[in-house]
Amino acid sequence: MHISLSEIDPKNRIYCNRSLNMRNIKAVGFDMDYTLALYKPEEFEVLAYQETLKKLVSAGYPETVLGFTFDITHMIRGLAIDKHRGNIIKLDRHRYVKVAYHGFKELTREERRSLYDASLAQSYEEPDYALIDTLFTLADAYLFAQLIDLRNKNPDKIRKTPLEIYRDVRHSIDLCHRDGSIKLKVAKNPGKYIKRDPLLKDTLERLRQSGRKIFVVTNSLWDYTHVVMNYIFGNDTQNLTLDWVQNFDVIVTGAAKPSFFMSPNPLYEVDPQSGLLRNTDGVLSPDSKIYQGGNFKQLHERLGISSGPEILYVGDHIYGDILRSKKELGWRTMLVINELEAELEALLKFKDEFKRYEELLQIKDDLDDEIQKLQLELEKTSTEATKGNASKSSTVQSLTQKRDSTREALRRSMRKYHQNFHGTWGQLMKTGHQNSRFAAQVENYACLYTSQLTNLLNYSPNFSFRSARDFMPHDFVHD
Ligand code: IMP
Ligand code: MG
Repeated sequence: MHISLSEIDPKNRIYCNRSLNMRNIKAVGFDMDYTLALYKPEEFEVLAYQETLKKLVSAGYPETVLGFTFDITHMIRGLAIDKHRGNIIKLDRHRYVKVAYHGFKELTREERRSLYDASLAQSYEEPDYALIDTLFTLADAYLFAQLIDLRNKNPDKIRKTPLEIYRDVRHSIDLCHRDGSIKLKVAKNPGKYIKRDPLLKDTLERLRQSGRKIFVVTNSLWDYTHVVMNYIFGNDTQNLTLDWVQNFDVIVTGAAKPSFFMSPNPLYEVDPQSGLLRNTDGVLSPDSKIYQGGNFKQLHERLGISSGPEILYVGDHIYGDILRSKKELGWRTMLVINELEAELEALLKFKDEFKRYEELLQIKDDLDDEIQKLQLELEKTSTEATKGNASKSSTVQSLTQKRDSTREALRRSMRKYHQNFHGTWGQLMKTGHQNSRFAAQVENYACLYTSQLTNLLNYSPNFSFRSARDFMPHDFVHD
């Protein structure tokens, strides 16, 4: 089948950072939550958030907290929580803080610079910062900002430091994921919380027919996985069946990624009828294909894989799914970024505005060049005070004024352009005109990225994905 990329809607394309020939792939693996199973954040994340509010009140937070509501669109992936200062920040790929809010109050440029410019050398990672790198953690950031706001307005109501507030939020959300507060409700009514993708079965089927082994590695435990899989493969969840299991060669639940890619964890076989675990002593019976725990070695063995690059793994979490599997094992990776669809829509819709921004940037750069040239000439002749110099100086002055006002206009226009993507944080993949830190991680760790895994159906199972050529600034010398 001949595929012309231009025939595929940009929102349904697979984008390639590192060339990948699918002919070399022997097994394709999938994460479950937010990869195979797409949640409806307006239901699922709101449920997690509301359950968390209850936990916070039980832990001593004021009852007013129960009246909080969650605007699920307010936070985006790639942000970092500054746990000590009570701020949420967005970084570019050089770890320069370009947007910062204290609670919901934007920091001025001066405030931002005085807080963060001196700390460029730091990594903005745990333990002082928390990364918002899954859709599950958008609630962490929003709730943290709300509580910081509440504390600032009523210091007597919350006598805690930002760090203590962060820990309480994280602990409560974590508990909700583990004690059934969320999962029992989802299990009762999965259709309320999870989307069904009618193309899912065909996507897996086509890969399987092409000879690839298909597997799942999820951090969810068996009972929850069983419910979610029944739902996404079109079954009525009142009567759970094991039909969905046939779509896969191996299923690993409770995998504890990313440790699954590194450490030797105990491996159990799951009895799918009872859900009971059986100790394997590391020995894999060829009759079973459902496991809990273990690590990549047993998975490779079970799949008959001899080297990491024979696996393509598809997941939504840079840290949990992609970074270690690629770095430690050489697995090829595809990151699912649901938000890419909206990002691409805005990119296309506002392309003329971007062009105008680039024209303005060119004007500013030309002014900069002209000023520098004149200044250089002035420096050379500074000892002979000539008439020419006086007129050059005044030209420099007027050009500088023009350049500064163009720079201001550029700043306004960049901000306005970014707001087309997101009113508060701007474009997901850019910070200013640099790649955002999130984009840099996608570039570094994801061989491929796409808005949803069923986009695989647009490509032959033997497609050879090619990356664009790399460029450095000096490569353009011959233009
Ligand atoms: P996966 O994406 O299929 O590997 O599954 C992710 C699992 O992690 C889901 O079962 C989530 O409910 C769970 N999860 C997400 N956030 C948290 C948390 O903060 N604490 C504990 N579990 C979480
Ligand atoms: Mg996931």
